[in-house]
Amino acid sequence: MKTRTPEEGLTALTDDAERNRLLAEMAEQSTDMISRHTPEDWRFIYVSPAVTHLLGYSVEEIVGMSAYDLYHPDDVEDFRLRAPTVNYDRGLYTHTYRFRCKDGRYTWLESTSRTIRDPQTNEISEILVVSRDATHRIKADKANRRLARVLESTQDLVIFLNLDLTVSHLNEVARMALQLEQTDYSSFPLSWFVTEKGHAQLMDEGIPAARRSGNWRGELDMRSLKGRRIPVMLELLAHRSLHGDIEYFSLVAHDLTEKKAAEEQLKQYQADIDHASRLVTMGELASSLAHELNQPLSAVVNYLRGVERRFAGQERITWSDLELPISRSIRTALRAGEIIHRMMDFTRKQEPVISDLDLSELIQEMVDFCESTAERHHVRVVCQVPAGLPLVRGDRVQLEQVLLNLIVNAIEASAYDCEEPFATVRVKADDQVPGHVCVRVEDQGGGISEADLPRLFDRFFSTKQSGLGMGLAISRTLVENLGGELWAENLPERGARFSFTLDTAD
Ligand code: ADP
Repeated sequence: MKTRTPEEGLTALTDDAERNRLLAEMAEQSTDMISRHTPEDWRFIYVSPAVTHLLGYSVEEIVGMSAYDLYHPDDVEDFRLRAPTVNYDRGLYTHTYRFRCKDGRYTWLESTSRTIRDPQTNEISEILVVSRDATHRIKADKANRRLARVLESTQDLVIFLNLDLTVSHLNEVARMALQLEQTDYSSFPLSWFVTEKGHAQLMDEGIPAARRSGNWRGELDMRSLKGRRIPVMLELLAHRSLHGDIEYFSLVAHDLTEKKAAEEQLKQYQADIDHASRLVTMGELASSLAHELNQPLSAVVNYLRGVERRFAGQERITWSDLELPISRSIRTALRAGEIIHRMMDFTRKQEPVISDLDLSELIQEMVDFCESTAERHHVRVVCQVPAGLPLVRGDRVQLEQVLLNLIVNAIEASAYDCEEPFATVRVKADDQVPGHVCVRVEDQGGGISEADLPRLFDRFFSTKQSGLGMGLAISRTLVENLGGELWAENLPERGARFSFTLDTAD
């Protein structure tokens, strides 16, 4: 083809024939399908070669065919209703519909149509249509609609955020949970919907992590506009454009209110069970303790009777005469008082208080406390705790409960199985593993059978006639709640060893 200067081109364009030629040339080369149709039945008068690439027909095949024969049956009615009066007398009309390809498949086309009118009669003489493949767009639209439906029907709160952390969209669940009554929330800052602590967590941790690696997950408290606190597990995503820039954030928050309430209730049940178990343990120890209390009380009575006998009828009594029996009486009465206090502490229902505890002192106290029980069962309890053991983190009463369960079990196991007059229960502790203290209670009983070993820590597992089977289960929960472990094993010679670990306090 001859090349022209721009001026020559312009002059040429004023020429009608040349303009038509150029238009035809553009139509022939366009990747969009350009077609002309009769107004009545949309018969193809002309179609550009793009038809072959788009629909598989050759130009010759399709010219003369009515477009109505190739529309998808579901779209035909739609087309009839819109054509020609409604749309075409207003000029341009864009429509998306399915069209049958030569191989029988339907493809989505998006067409813009324009009516051409006879200048004399103003009748529609033909329709000019530019069509392009809309399959990808329709698929993307469908996927978007599906996603939108998922977002609206999920039970989680979904919030889209602009880069400045203002809200751009919320799903229905989020609108309800955050108590948003107005419909325009688009400029609301995220900080209105999270507690101060939660906001700081998001700013310091969540947003930087999402910017860095695309997502962040964490637990925090959101709050509604009216101040209702909502504990959530939150997933924060940073969405990037094809060029890699972050375009917006999305936030999916799973409401943990019910889970937290259930956990709280479970904790309450656990506390009730722990308490009940302490009462049972104390009940089991009652006869030994009664004996233990009886001793100091009788001793006090004896001291005072001695004083009575010695000084009856004497008028002049000096302090040196009374000093010894009275100080002994006081000491012994105080010991009885201590036993009663400990019983009361142990059986009182109270919230756990985590503090730094001296385990060696606690172990010694528990060993002393079990002394009369041990004696009654002909068992000796020995405390082998080295000096200078680090402090541990825990609740005093809970740890007393664990120690008491293990020591009483060890005494009972040794008493039952041991033929020797005095079996020994050893309570040991060490800090060989840095950061932990390990306590071990070893006995000389019959040990644990292979069959019982896996069930030992199950609730209600007991081989004792009047056993409740709660002691070990509760002890393990208590230790695990403090971040430690409790396990059992048989000793090589005979007897069993129950060990538990606790974190040191630092
Ligand atoms: P209970 O003492 O009421 O039976 P526990 O949960 O404290 O409940 O103990 C469960 C079971 O574990 C006991 O019945 C016993 O069979 C076994 N057991 C516990 N301690 C020992 C031990 N030191 N030696 C052998 N078996 C033990």
